[in-house]
Amino acid sequence: MGEIPEKSIVIIRKREYRSDLNRSVVTTHYATVSKNSLVYLSKRNVAKRLTKQCAQFMLHTGKIPQKITITRKIVENKPVELIYSFSTTEVFQLYITEELLEGKEPKNFIETLIASSDIDFLKTISEEEKQWKVTYAPDGRALCKKCKRQIKTKEIRVGRMPKEEEPPRQEFYHFNCFAFSKIDPKTIHCINDLSEEDQKKIRKKLK
Ligand SMILES: [Zn+2]
Repeated sequence: MGEIPEKSIVIIRKREYRSDLNRSVVTTHYATVSKNSLVYLSKRNVAKRLTKQCAQFMLHTGKIPQKITITRKIVENKPVELIYSFSTTEVFQLYITEELLEGKEPKNFIETLIASSDIDFLKTISEEEKQWKVTYAPDGRALCKKCKRQIKTKEIRVGRMPKEEEPPRQEFYHFNCFAFSKIDPKTIHCINDLSEEDQKKIRKKLK
């Protein structure tokens, strides 16, 4: 434990047998390091800590931290929602409020950081109705909406992300079943998590 700095956030995934379900499932636990031991936290509390850390980072460095994307429209005088992607399957929503920014108006503040950044965050901002996320399928449970066949584990999967006001529903496609040419390339994100070869394949389709 001595290797992990104090206050680090640790994510522990393990396969556990659940007698109530009569099968084993992968469970995720979150913890922080304090005095050389792990203190377990809820995902909500992890998000809260990350939100505070992110706000402090932005205030002190004038930069947006790595692995942050912006998927929702930024609205004046409202908290700005940033998405922190720890991995393709572990994502945290960070609501950056005026209070966390020590009185600065979130929209104005974040847009100034975006403007001075080398990274094209605007690529991830979209007012389009549909938002698409390309990842490797973490499991083989999803069915493709077009061909109705299974999308196998680790295959490229294009998923539609529901908007805030919608109930979460699943909509996934195989790489070859998805109409890349019909969508605005701006509405796709998370392709940075894919291998370079796969990113090339997608960029080709988007042209
Ligand atoms: Zn398909």
